[in-house]
Amino acid sequence: MNSSLKQRDLNVLWHPCTQMKDHDTLLANEAILPLIPIKRGEGVWLEDFEGKRYLDAVSSWWVNLFGHANPHITQALKKQVDELEHVILAGFTHEPVVNLAEQLIAITPADLTRCFFADNGSASIEVALKMSFHFWKNTGFPEKKQFITVQDGYHGETLGALAVGDVALYKDIYAPLLMPTLTVPSPATHYAKEDETAEQVAERQITHLETLLQQQHQTIAAIVIEPLVQCAGGMKMHSPYYLQLLRQLCDRYQVHLIADEIAVGFGRTGTLFACEQAQITPDFLCLSKGLTGGFLPLSVVLTTDKIYAAFYDDYQKLNGFLHSHSYTGNPLACSAALATLEIFQQQNIIEKNKSLIASLAEALASLADHPHITNIRQCGMIGAFDLVENKQTKQSYAWQQRHGMQVYREALKRGVILRPLGNVIYLMPPYVITAEQIHWVIQVARESIDTVLKR
Ligand SMILES: *Cc1c(COP(=O)(O)O)cnc(C)c1O
Repeated sequence: MNSSLKQRDLNVLWHPCTQMKDHDTLLANEAILPLIPIKRGEGVWLEDFEGKRYLDAVSSWWVNLFGHANPHITQALKKQVDELEHVILAGFTHEPVVNLAEQLIAITPADLTRCFFADNGSASIEVALKMSFHFWKNTGFPEKKQFITVQDGYHGETLGALAVGDVALYKDIYAPLLMPTLTVPSPATHYAKEDETAEQVAERQITHLETLLQQQHQTIAAIVIEPLVQCAGGMKMHSPYYLQLLRQLCDRYQVHLIADEIAVGFGRTGTLFACEQAQITPDFLCLSKGLTGGFLPLSVVLTTDKIYAAFYDDYQKLNGFLHSHSYTGNPLACSAALATLEIFQQQNIIEKNKSLIASLAEALASLADHPHITNIRQCGMIGAFDLVENKQTKQSYAWQQRHGMQVYREALKRGVILRPLGNVIYLMPPYVITAEQIHWVIQVARESIDTVLKR
C-alpha cells in the first residue's frame, strides 16, 4: 500500500519546494529524500500506512496548533458544512466571517478595526502591499510606492511577496521578475558583535533604517517585517525593542508598518501576537497559518480606521480597494478559525503554554555542551539551534547543508519530523505536545546529529 501510493504519487505529482529527483527511488537503492505517505493524523502524531508514527515537531509547516484531527475543530466544520459551504463575499455576507472579524478585532492590538480576508499567507502580503500603496495614492502621495524589506525576511512566494522577501534560495532565480525593493540589515541576534545585547543590536541596526528613511521617505510606502522571529530565513530572533524603534521611525517618516505574523501569530512567540511584546500596533497585520488551527487555508489583513477611511468614497472616483480572491472569507475556513479561537479562550492556552515554554528551554539547554551545536535560541514555543562544523568559525556552508538533510532522515527513522532549514534545526510543535515529548524530540535531535557525525 505504502510503496504503491508512493509510486503513483511520483507518477503524477510535483511537490512544493522539492527537487523531485531527490525522491526518485529508481536512481539508487535509496532516495536522497524519502517520500512518506501519511494515512491519518491524531494530536501531535502523523501515521503512515504501516502504522509507523511520526511526531510532527514542525506543525506541518507551522500551521497546526492543537493537533491533527482536533475534535473541537472537526465538530465545528461538520456543523458548518451542513449549513453553508461557501458564498461569494462581494455583495453577500455570512455569520462565520462576521463573527471571526469581530473576534480578531477584539484580540489583536488596539486600533486594528477592519478585516480584509484572503486565502493564503502570500495573498495577505499582496493585499497589504497594494493597500499601503493605494492609501498613499488616495491621500495625495502617489510617489510613495517603494517597499523596505528586512535582511533574511520571508513573506511568501507569489511575485509581490517574493519581492519583499530576502531569502536567496527562494528569490535569486526569479529576481528578474520582481519589483525592486530596499533592504535594511537584520536586527537578529545572529548579527551581534561580541558581547552585544539584543537591544544593542537593535539600536545599531535601526540606524541603517533611519538613514534610508531620512533620504527616501517621500518615495517609500511601507516596511514589511516578521516581528520577533524571522522564520523561513533561519529562525533568527530579535528584541521587541527593535519593533518599538521601528514604530517610532514609521510614525516620524510617514511610512506604514506591515507586521507579517503569518508564522509567529497565535501564540508561537509566547504571547497571542508578537507585536504585543513590543506594545505596538502595526498599520497592517497579516495572519494566516495557525488561523484555522491548521485545517484550511485562510488569511486576513487587519488594518486601522485611518487606512479604511482613505478608500471610502463615491464609486465614480475609483478610490475603492481593488482586490479579490474567489474563496475570500470561506465559511468553512472561518468556522475552523472560530473553533480555534474558542480553544485559546476556553483552555487558557497562552497561560498553559508557559510551562511548555519552560520545558523547551530546559531541553534546549541540554544541548549547550554539544561540540557542533551553536546559537541555541528560543522565543516562546519556537526553539532552534545551528549545526556547525566548527563552533568558533561557524563556517563551511556545504558541510552544513549536507548534514542538515541527513539529520532530517535520521530523525524520521526515530519517528520525529524535524525539517531543518539548511543547517538550522528547530522545533515549532503543536501546543498539544507534552513536556516529555519535548525532551524526547530534543534527545532524538541529539542522537540523529551524533549518528550523522559519526559517519
Ligand atoms: C508561510 C509564510 C508566508 C506565506 O504564507 P503561504 O500561506 O505559504 O503563502 C508569509 N510570511 C511568513 C512569515 C510565513 O512564514
